[in-house]
Amino acid sequence: MSYFQYDILRTVARFVTTHVWTRGGSNLIRDETGLPFAAPETHTPWRNYSRIFKLCLLVSENDGVAVPTPVAQILTQAGAVTCDEYLHFLVEATTDPSPALAGWKAVAEGQAVKHPLCFALKYLLAKIAGPNEPITSIYEVIGAYIDSDFSGDEDDTAFLGLMAKHRSYEEIGKNADPRQARESIKFISQISYLHSDGSNIITSLSQEDAMNIFQDIHPISGPREEDGDLEIQRLAALFKDGSEHDFFDYKTTIVSDVVESGFSEGSKVKKTHIVIERNSKLRDLFFDRKPTSVCDACSMDTKKKYPWVERVLDLHHILPLSSGTRVDSRTGTMLNDLVPVCPTCHRSIHRFYDGHLKASTRKDFLNEKEARDIYAQAKGEIVKGDCHV
Ligand SMILES: [Zn+2]
Ligand SMILES: [Zn+2]
Repeated sequence: MSYFQYDILRTVARFVTTHVWTRGGSNLIRDETGLPFAAPETHTPWRNYSRIFKLCLLVSENDGVAVPTPVAQILTQAGAVTCDEYLHFLVEATTDPSPALAGWKAVAEGQAVKHPLCFALKYLLAKIAGPNEPITSIYEVIGAYIDSDFSGDEDDTAFLGLMAKHRSYEEIGKNADPRQARESIKFISQISYLHSDGSNIITSLSQEDAMNIFQDIHPISGPREEDGDLEIQRLAALFKDGSEHDFFDYKTTIVSDVVESGFSEGSKVKKTHIVIERNSKLRDLFFDRKPTSVCDACSMDTKKKYPWVERVLDLHHILPLSSGTRVDSRTGTMLNDLVPVCPTCHRSIHRFYDGHLKASTRKDFLNEKEARDIYAQAKGEIVKGDCHV
């Protein structure tokens, strides 16, 4: 179970904004969120997990009590921001050393910080913007980071130069498993235009969009607070929705407008959903692992109906619209959140969503359960419709 998943972070955000969570704390967080927070008897959930939620800028700590940040407040509102907006913000805010970890004090004494997530994302984007290589091994990114000593703020020319000459992770001769670095690269692969197959990150963007995003990513700078918890709050207060970044339109990647996909109107939460569904490499990975030609909604076997093609199916993402793809730390992107549907059913499902959300005056589903329920309802209607044929 990965606590770095966007939907889990939203659940934790809801908990910390509505309950008191203390260091000595009870099992309240287990009961209220339904998450296991597995830990030895002697360790409280706080002791084992608070570091993750500090790294994700959801909480700071004051006298053994969790203090929710403005980021936690925003994540609790359904449809206020997308997973993409949140992750791009964390990319810009994350530093090494981190205010969430011991060793932060050194920064106040004038040590420069590095921006490892900025580095990783910009490296992946530069590989599209430059040589247009969509597949990058996680170890290649880690090797480049160690070998370059880049801060993450360098420009595209510097990244392209680095790509051409840096040593591989093996050549650097580090023996230790860079587990934390691997995990954080998988963490950002929840962004809609990325996905992870376990050992590589695959980027599905047009070269133009990749360059736009690259140029719009800038590490958040100081002055830094000396106290790590105050620094977390300082950074978190800078979180806004992505409206000042026009790259969230993914102009040349989505190409056609959102309406064509079946939604009756475009919005940023719907765009996030569609970027995932149009992610061509994710599609290849999905059908590679689950070769099928049958629509999950109407059960039409598209191979039987159209024997000259392998299949006529779209991928539909069944989490809330603003969610990214979830990642498992071993296998990469979780394919169980995707279902294959024929294009007609897919359009009708999006229209069904529109109707449901309009009736409930919300921009997005509240949580995974609601998203799955509404998908099941739409599917039920489609199956019912079939009966008179
Ligand atoms: Zn169908
Ligand atoms: Zn869909």
